[in-house]
Amino acid sequence: MRVVVAGGGGFIGSHLVDQLVARGDEVTVLDAFSTGRRSNLSGQLGSEYCEVIECDITKPLPEVGDVEAVVNLASPACPDDFESMALEILGAGSVGNRRLLDLATAHGARFLLASTSEVYGASLMHPQYEDYWGNVDPIGPRSCYDEAKRFAEATTVAYARTHRLDIRIARIFNTYGERMAPTDGRVVAAFVARALRDEPLLVYGDGTQTRSFCHVSDQVAGLIALLDGSCGLPVNIGNPEEVTIMELAELVISIVRPSSEISVVPLPERRTGDPDRRCPDISRARSELGWEPQIALSDGVAAMASYFRDHEELG
Ligand code: NAD
Ligand code: UDP
Repeated sequence: MRVVVAGGGGFIGSHLVDQLVARGDEVTVLDAFSTGRRSNLSGQLGSEYCEVIECDITKPLPEVGDVEAVVNLASPACPDDFESMALEILGAGSVGNRRLLDLATAHGARFLLASTSEVYGASLMHPQYEDYWGNVDPIGPRSCYDEAKRFAEATTVAYARTHRLDIRIARIFNTYGERMAPTDGRVVAAFVARALRDEPLLVYGDGTQTRSFCHVSDQVAGLIALLDGSCGLPVNIGNPEEVTIMELAELVISIVRPSSEISVVPLPERRTGDPDRRCPDISRARSELGWEPQIALSDGVAAMASYFRDHEELG
């Protein structure tokens, strides 16, 4: 296939690009390199099957030729950026997503939106299943991201209904792994980087909040299964192995540096509205895609730590 991957220079996007090229697809990456890094695509340097175009999806898109699939992963995603990049996030989920929908419509291509578990907000249901409509504060510190993704989902289904566009919606749950930057404020990267630097791990709040962490290789396998399959409904892609943030801190310490310490600190104000519990119900992914994650959290954390040691400047 000829596939456009918007956000292909990012953490998840670059792994997706590698897998698509490896199976024989031709990929055009559209990326503004705002939160992504060119080094993520170093494996594709000089490849005739991967073209990289630096551009902002909220601006008119460059000419990309014939396209059979469009994947939209282009959006800042770290909660620490929700304050400083609120308007960029809202732009990416609204006008940016719409430009990519127009591109897919013009070529009769299928379209995959990378949505998020954040559409469930401070969920009143546990675990979260796709038919739950969510509990989102429309004006809270996370609203720029949650509402941008909800708007992006709404626009995507409107294109399916109005233009008969062939759509896929992935609701991605917390994903971690190699190529996250050590400066990324998301928790697995932050904990591994701090343990490697022999700094205390900062647990926000009381550490009883939960998340369910999916290794990026599992995530990308799920996205490809969704792209290739025929399910037009939203699908949760995540790992249902749920842990408290305190348990995660203890796990990271046991793997990376047993002498590291934990500091319990108040939840930063910018993170007000931090969901208490998050875990995907992946019944739909199992039945519709035949997909489920394979990588245990302990193995993924060990792989990420050795990647940080070998490839990153830890300061
Ligand atoms: P990332 O920041 O590494 O990747 C996003 C990429 O999009 C970056 O390369 C960035 O430069 C690019 N980008 C941002 N705005 C753009 C714009 N206007 N025009 C062009 N490019 C732009 O983050 P990630 O973790 O790889 O996330 C990828 C996608 O998956 C995002 O849409 C995110 O919302 C979604 N997601 C990720 C997670 C996760 O845990 N990693 C969870 C849920 C959803
Ligand atoms: N968190 C933490 N310490 C950190 C970073 C995050 O305790 O250094 C907590 C955060 O408050 C949240 C969880 O870890 O409860 C996951 O945060 P992350 O930024 O990875 O993603 P989120 O699921 O909030 O989008």
